[in-house]
Amino acid sequence: MTKAGCVSSSPLRFRPRGWIGHTAAMLTPVSSVAGAAALERDASRRTHRLVDAARDRFAQRRRPTRARMRALMVGPGGRLAFHDVPTPPPPGPTGALVRPLAMATCDLDRPLALGRTPFPLPLALGHECVAEVMTVGAQVATVRPGDRVVVPFQISCGACGACRAGLTGNCTGVPPISMYGFGVGGGHWGGAFAEQLAIPFADAMLVPLPDGIDPVAAASVADTVCDGYRHVAPHLPALLKRDPAAEILIIAGTGRRPVFSASTPLYAGQVARALGARQVTLVDSRQAVRAHAERLGLHTLAPGELRGRPPAPLTVDLSGSRRGLWTALTHTAPDGTCSCAGILHRSVRIPTGLMFARNATLHLGRAHTRTLIPAVLELITDGHLRPQDVTTNVAPFDQSPTALREHILGDDTKTVITIP
Ligand SMILES: [Zn+2]
Ligand SMILES: [Zn+2]
Repeated sequence: MTKAGCVSSSPLRFRPRGWIGHTAAMLTPVSSVAGAAALERDASRRTHRLVDAARDRFAQRRRPTRARMRALMVGPGGRLAFHDVPTPPPPGPTGALVRPLAMATCDLDRPLALGRTPFPLPLALGHECVAEVMTVGAQVATVRPGDRVVVPFQISCGACGACRAGLTGNCTGVPPISMYGFGVGGGHWGGAFAEQLAIPFADAMLVPLPDGIDPVAAASVADTVCDGYRHVAPHLPALLKRDPAAEILIIAGTGRRPVFSASTPLYAGQVARALGARQVTLVDSRQAVRAHAERLGLHTLAPGELRGRPPAPLTVDLSGSRRGLWTALTHTAPDGTCSCAGILHRSVRIPTGLMFARNATLHLGRAHTRTLIPAVLELITDGHLRPQDVTTNVAPFDQSPTALREHILGDDTKTVITIP
């Protein structure tokens, strides 16, 4: 196992919720809101999918017809272990089977594994990977066995109105919030920390990895690098035209012990710098994260140091906390924008009077990742973006239960797992 960079491996900092705490969390208002959103369209299709998956599992247990593989599962109490499961069934006409080569943690994986999100455990973990195509269905035209591809974490069909408009995160060809690595809550599509993964729409989803890009460097393009990109890239051209010295203020972590790891804020900072922003400030209460950001060329502040500073025309809240969003909104300048990745609370306070007076815009929601991947890969190919500089740990697949446990209970920013 190699430890790269910066954020040191420290004593374990987080305590996972056990069965009782996790089950109780499933009964909170935020869980019911999240569950309702997942079922608000195509509820029967989603249910059928879950029933089919359970039936298949039962049939394979009674009379196995397919080979077996290892998949990393996380259960209540943060228990991480390999499970011996059947390989996915052969792909349909539009599908493919891939073999992950480099899989990365998402900033949400820690809260997920600790039982602090609305997603029920146990589940097959992992939703960011670069993979090698193994087999493709008869209608697949753009990828072939042996190709290396980025696998977007969201499932999208490429053919519906939303997909054609580039809004692939809300594809209507599959039930809402369909994604890898979130178990039943994401629609039961499997996890990327596994020896194989099924892709239902290979032409629409898979993006070939350009020659010369290391899969380990690009593993997080599947989600968090694109997430960092979308908070800054759409806003920068107009902003920098108006004021080339405009400040980009990124709120990464507030409070004593932020539970989200900080890779997306670091990627957002890297992208802002790559696209010409001169003043990029990252705010985090963790000294190690601030040191990491400074090595990437970002200016940093502890949350308390923000007091009295002028507001910024573009603020990005990636803290996942009420306090972080409030901080970002109160520091958004007149006619400015606050871009927020989202928050795991049912509702939060918004400074509406201040925002009205300043004419500030808040955008909160999920990325349409598949659409963003080519632009992000182009930045990497050109040498303007180096996601590998955010990675803090690289470990082989055999050691992934230990490496990911260390990630979840410790303070790593980005752990990448490899299968040669
Ligand atoms: Zn994610
Ligand atoms: Zn679609």
